[in-house]
Amino acid sequence: MGALQTEIERRGERIFDLVDRYPEPLFSKAGFYQRMMALSMRDEHFKVQLFRFVDVLASLHRGTDIVQHLDEYFADMRNGYTPLIRTGVHAAKIVPWISGQLLRWNVSGMARQFIAGRNPKDVMKTLRKRRAQGIGFTVDLLGEAVVSEQEANEYTTRCLELLEHLGRETRDWTDPLGKNTELFPVVNVSVKISALYSQMNPADPADAIAHLAPKLRPILRRARDLGAFVNFDMESFAHKNATLELFRTLFTESEFRDWPHIGIVIQAYLRDAENDLLDLLDWGRARGTRFAVRLVKGAYWDFEKIKSRQNGWACPVFLQKPESDLNFEMLTRIMLENESIVTSAFGSHNVRSIAHAQALADQLGIDRSRFEFQLLYGMAGPVKRALVEMGYRVREYCPVGELLPGMSYLVRRLLENTSNEGFLRAKFSDNVSEDALLRNPADLISQSPNGARHVEVSGDGPSLDSPPGETYENAPLVNFVYPENQERMREALARVRTRLGRKYPLVINGDRVWTDKTIASINPTSPDDVVGHVAEAGIPEAERAVKAARDAFEKWSRTSFETRCRLLERAADIMHRRRFELSALEVFEVGKAWAEADGDIREAMDFCRFYAQQMRLIGRPRLTQHVLGEESYQHYWPRGVALVIAPWNFPMAILCGMTTAALVTGNTVIIKPAEQSAVIGAMLMEIFEEAGVPPGVLNYLPGKGSVMGAHLVDHKDVDLIAFTGSREVGLRIWESAGKTREGQRELKRVICEMGGKNAVIIDADADLDEAIVDTIYSAFGYQGQKCSACSRLIILEEIYPRAIERLLNAAASLRVGNPEEPGITVGPVIDGAAYKRILEYIDSGKNESRLAFQRGDVPQKGFFIPPTIFTNVSPKSRIACEEIFGPVLSVIRARDLDEAFEIANSTEFALTAGFFSRSPANIERAKAEIVAGNVYINRSCTGAVVGRHPFGGFKMSGGGTKAGGADYLLQFVVPRVVTENITRHGFAPETTPQYRDEFLGPR
Ligand SMILES: Cc1cc2nc3c(=O)[nH]c(=O)nc-3n(C[C@H](O)[C@H](O)[C@H](O)COP(=O)(O)OP(=O)(O)OC[C@H]3O[C@@H](n4cnc5c(N)ncnc54)[C@H](O)[C@@H]3O)c2cc1C
Repeated sequence: MGALQTEIERRGERIFDLVDRYPEPLFSKAGFYQRMMALSMRDEHFKVQLFRFVDVLASLHRGTDIVQHLDEYFADMRNGYTPLIRTGVHAAKIVPWISGQLLRWNVSGMARQFIAGRNPKDVMKTLRKRRAQGIGFTVDLLGEAVVSEQEANEYTTRCLELLEHLGRETRDWTDPLGKNTELFPVVNVSVKISALYSQMNPADPADAIAHLAPKLRPILRRARDLGAFVNFDMESFAHKNATLELFRTLFTESEFRDWPHIGIVIQAYLRDAENDLLDLLDWGRARGTRFAVRLVKGAYWDFEKIKSRQNGWACPVFLQKPESDLNFEMLTRIMLENESIVTSAFGSHNVRSIAHAQALADQLGIDRSRFEFQLLYGMAGPVKRALVEMGYRVREYCPVGELLPGMSYLVRRLLENTSNEGFLRAKFSDNVSEDALLRNPADLISQSPNGARHVEVSGDGPSLDSPPGETYENAPLVNFVYPENQERMREALARVRTRLGRKYPLVINGDRVWTDKTIASINPTSPDDVVGHVAEAGIPEAERAVKAARDAFEKWSRTSFETRCRLLERAADIMHRRRFELSALEVFEVGKAWAEADGDIREAMDFCRFYAQQMRLIGRPRLTQHVLGEESYQHYWPRGVALVIAPWNFPMAILCGMTTAALVTGNTVIIKPAEQSAVIGAMLMEIFEEAGVPPGVLNYLPGKGSVMGAHLVDHKDVDLIAFTGSREVGLRIWESAGKTREGQRELKRVICEMGGKNAVIIDADADLDEAIVDTIYSAFGYQGQKCSACSRLIILEEIYPRAIERLLNAAASLRVGNPEEPGITVGPVIDGAAYKRILEYIDSGKNESRLAFQRGDVPQKGFFIPPTIFTNVSPKSRIACEEIFGPVLSVIRARDLDEAFEIANSTEFALTAGFFSRSPANIERAKAEIVAGNVYINRSCTGAVVGRHPFGGFKMSGGGTKAGGADYLLQFVVPRVVTENITRHGFAPETTPQYRDEFLGPR
C-alpha cells in the first residue's frame, strides 16, 4: 500500500472518530423526514411517489387539494406499509384542511432542513450560529428555471440585495482561522448563471455571454467594493461551456483582471473535467491573478444520464461512482499542485475524498489554512464539526429562498441522500464499515463497461415479438454544446452559401431533364436570395416519369428486400456524411433554426434505417398457423407506382420517410417536393443516386401541385399516393383518388397526413417552470410551422393569472431573428403567401379576441411574423378553429378539467395534444380522454422520434397510419396468402418451415 493511501486511511479514521461522537440528524432522529427517507431507501416505488408528491406540494394551496394528491400518490401503494399509509390517507380525508396543512408543514420542515432561510434577513440567524461554530458561509439564492427575462432581471436584483445585506450584517466579522485571510473573504455568494438569462442556448455561448456579462458586472463591482467573494456555480452540462467562457471573459476584462475573489465550480463526474480544469489554470496564469475552484462531483448525474440517452449522445458523466471519486482525487491533485494560482475549495461530504485532499495537501506542504472544505447546509453536520476540530477551514453552502423554488433543490438533496451509491447513506444509514468507505476508488472500478445503451437483440436479430422501437437505435442528434459541432455548422453555412443560386434538373429514368420553366426557391430570411433554380415539370414530364416508374417496377418489385434495405441504409450513411451541409441548406431554404434543421436530417436517417429494419421483419412469407397437412404463408407485394407529395416544413424527413417506405416495400416512386423546398428534394434524389437507386425506380419531379401534381394523382398508372400537407389539398387528393379511371389496375391507396389544431392543457397543479418553457417551444419553435405545433393553450382558471403572466413574459424573451445565427428560436415563415395569410389571421384575431402580446422588434426584411398571443379566445372563434401554421397562439381559459377536455376535443382535427399536470388521476384521465393521434404528457407536443413516437393523427388530421411506427409499411403493400394442401393419401410432413422465400415478388 502506498504512503498516500496509508495517510488517507489514518486521516479518514481520525475524521470518523470525531464524526462518531455526534449523531447525523438526517439519518438518526426519528422525525417525519427520517421516516420518509427510511421508507424511500427500502422501496423504490414509494421513493418515486414521495419525490413527486414533494415536487407538487408547494404549488398546492387548499387542504383538500393536498389530501387529494396524497390519496392519488399513495392510496394504492402495493408494499408492506400499505395499511399505515392507507390509514393516514383515510384520516387525512376526514379533516382535509387540518391534515393538508399539517402535511405541508411537515414537508416544509423537510425543505427547511436544506434551505437556510427564506430571505437574506432570515438567513442571518443561521449564519450567526455557524459563525459561532467556526464555520463560514456561501449563500446561494434559489431560483433556477427562469422562463423569461423579467424573471432573470428579478433574480439579478435579488442578488444585489443579498450582497448589500450580507455586507452590512457581517461588517465586523473576521476570518475563523485568522490566517491567510486575504484569500477568503467573509462574504461569499454563489450565483447560478442560468437564473440570470432565460434564453441560454448551448449552441450559442457568445449570445449567453453578451447577455450575462452586463447583468453580472454590477453584481461583481458591488461585490468587489464590499470585499466579497463571488462563485459561479455549475449546472447542467449544456450550460457548462458557456459558464466557463463567461467566467474567463469577464475576469480577463481590465476592470476585474486583478481581482482574486472569484471562483468557479468543476464537476468531477464529467469526463472532460480535467481538460476544463487545465484550461482554467492556463487562463489563470496568463491572467496573472489568483482565482478559486470549488471541486465537486456534480449534482445532475441522473439528469445527464437520462438526457444523453434520450438524444443518443455520448454520456458526459462517468457511469460508475468510483470513477467520479477517482477523478475527484485526480483533480484534487492538479488543484493542489497549482496552489500558486488557484485556491482550492473541496465540495464534498465524503470522508475518503476529504481525507485524500488533506493527506495530499500535507504531502505537498500546503498549509491547511490555504484551502477550504465546503459542505451543504443541513447535511453532514458531524463531518463539518470534525473538520473544524481538526483545524480546517469549513464553509457551508446556504441556499436561501421560498418553498416553491426550493422544491427542486429539495428533490435533488433527497435523491442524493437516498442514492444507493451516496457516501452519507452508506455511512450513516447502511453502516458500511470504515475500511470499505476509505478504500481507494481505483480498486473499485469494475472492468465491465456499464451504462452503454444495450439493445437486447436475440441471435436472429429483431423479431416481431420485440417492441418495434426497442430494437432500433435512433441516430443521435448533433449536440451543439460541443464547440467543434458549432464550428462545423458555421463552416457548412459558409460553404452552402457559396453554392446558392445553382440550377437543378428533373431526374426521370436516371436522366437529367431540363425544362423551359424553372422554380426559384428563395431564402425566407432574405427573399432577394435565391437558394436554387429547379426545373419545373409539366404534364409531358409527368407522363414520362410515370412510364419510367411503371417500366422499372417489374424488376424492382422482384429485387430482394435485402437489396432494397441496403439501399436505404447506404442513403442514411450518405446523409450522415453530409449532415451539416444538409442542415445548413435547410437554414437557407426553409428558415429552420440549427437544432430544428439537424432534427430533420436525423429523422430522415432514422426513417431510412427504421424502415429497412421493419422491412426485414415483414419481408419474408411467414407461416400463419401450424396445422397438420396444410401450410399457409402470408406475405406482401408492392402496390406499383407511388406518388410522394411532400411539404416544406420537414423538407428532408417527411419526403424521405414517405419515399423510403415506398421504395423498401418494392414500389417505384415519383417524388414531388414542395416548391419552397425543392432544392432539398434535389438533394434527396442526389443521395439516392449515389446510394445506387436504379434508373426509373426513383424520379424527381418538382412542379406545380395544381397542374402536374393533380395530373399524377388522377393518373391511371399511379397506384399509391403518399401525401403530407394541408387539409384542403389532402381532401382533394382523397376524393380524386377515389375515382376509378379507364385502364386503372388497382384501387388507389392514399396515405394522407394533414394538419392539426393542437391543444395543450395546463392543469391547476402543473409545474409552470416546465409547462411554460415547453408550451412556448411547442407554439413558437420553427415559427409554429409544424403540423404538431401547439396553437391552442387551455389553462385552468385556478392557475390562469400566474401562468399567463409567465407565458407572456417568456414570449417576450424569445430570440427572433436570422436562423443562420445559432440559438435563434423564431425565424421567418416560409414565404410571402404564408406571411400574408398569417397576418390576416392575426387581424381577424384582433376582432374576436384580446391581443395580449405581440413582439415589436422582428426584422423588417424577410417574412418575419412577430410571435403573437391572443387571450380571451372563444373556442368557436376562427383563430381557435382553423389551422394558422404560424407563430400565433390562442389562449383559452377553462373552468375545470371537464371543460378543458371538451374544448381540446372540439376541433375537426386530432393530431397532437399536450397535458401538463402533477395529478396522477388527471394524467390518467388525459391519457384516456384526449382525442389526438399523439398525446404528450408533461412535455412539448412536437418532436416525435422515429420508432419511439409513431406519428400521425385521425379525424381531419389524417387517413394514414403512424409514420415511424411498426405498421406504416403495411400501407405500401398488398397482403397475400398462399395456402397449399400438403397431404398426400393421408400423409403429411410433421413440421412446416416458419418462412418460405419462393414467392417473394410478383412474377
Ligand atoms: C458546497 C457544495 C457546493 C456544491 N456546488 C455544486 C455545483 O455548483 N454544481 C454541482 O453540480 N454540484 C454541486 N454540489 C453537489 C455535489 O456535486 C455532489 O452532488 C454532492 O456533494 C455529493 O457528493 P459527495 O462527494 O458529497 O458524496 P458522494 O456520495 O461521494 O458522491 C455522490 C456523487 O457521486 C456521483 N455519482 C453518483 N452515482 C454515480 C455513478 N453511478 N457514476 C458516476 N458518478 C456517480 C454524483 O455526482 C453524486 O452526486 C455541491 C456540493 C457542495 C458540498
